[in-house]
Amino acid sequence: MEEEIRTRIAPSPTGLFHLGTARTALYNYLFAKSKGGKFIVRIEDTDRARSQPEYENDILDGLNWLGLAWDEGPIVEGPYKPYHQAKRLKIYQKYCQQLLAEKKAYLCYCTPQELEKERENQMKTHQPPIYSGRCQKLKPEELEKYKKEGRQPAIRFLTNDEGAIEFKDLIRGKVTFDPKTIGDFIIQKSDGIPTFYLAGVVDDFLMKISHVIRGEEHISNTPRQILLQRALGFSIPEYAHLPLIFNPDKTKMSKRKDPVSITSDCKN
Ligand code: GLU
Repeated sequence: MEEEIRTRIAPSPTGLFHLGTARTALYNYLFAKSKGGKFIVRIEDTDRARSQPEYENDILDGLNWLGLAWDEGPIVEGPYKPYHQAKRLKIYQKYCQQLLAEKKAYLCYCTPQELEKERENQMKTHQPPIYSGRCQKLKPEELEKYKKEGRQPAIRFLTNDEGAIEFKDLIRGKVTFDPKTIGDFIIQKSDGIPTFYLAGVVDDFLMKISHVIRGEEHISNTPRQILLQRALGFSIPEYAHLPLIFNPDKTKMSKRKDPVSITSDCKN
């Protein structure tokens, strides 16, 4: 049996429905529908401080207004619910624990101040700002000390830096990244909230997403996500990164300067 085509739009409800998100949604919708597939909406609301229900409503109203009805997602629900990441934290934590148990991830006790200092030193000595891997080699007494201080650890993925990471982007063709430029990255913050890299990968897998069609600003996230997919034994979806949208004068569209919400003309 041929695999069902399943695409998704995964907006973070941290602002009004953005023109770029609308375009990404349109491509996802058209691609899925042209293949008899499904179009899914997943709300990426793990940033609790910035996510707001009114933004989610604006995004969903905007999708409806454009006629981009979703087959699964908020309100309509579906077999892979819930479709809000904030309601799926236990699922992500389970996969993080799996990676820890398999020694594909480790606990990181560094404070933001320590990380900042490390970055400053790297800048001064003209090294790339990549995490040193310090907490992977903690001595038992250091570990004890941090625990006593009450430090809550984050979880870092252990990046194996052998071999280039390659994928075939459906728009750009072959894309290659050197894992040495990536370093060990955080997959779960010290408050137990997953980062975008891990949550997206877990959900794309569990929601059986066949094609990840998203903006080009995400292309540098893809190698990290592929590393996670490999480590977790997940299938790797097809990737297509859409070029950025430019203003008529060819400058990059900016959230701050330009009216980029699809309803901005109506409101101004
Ligand atoms: N939440 C991301 C965004 O709003 C989408 C990530 C993705 O499509 O994988 O940009």
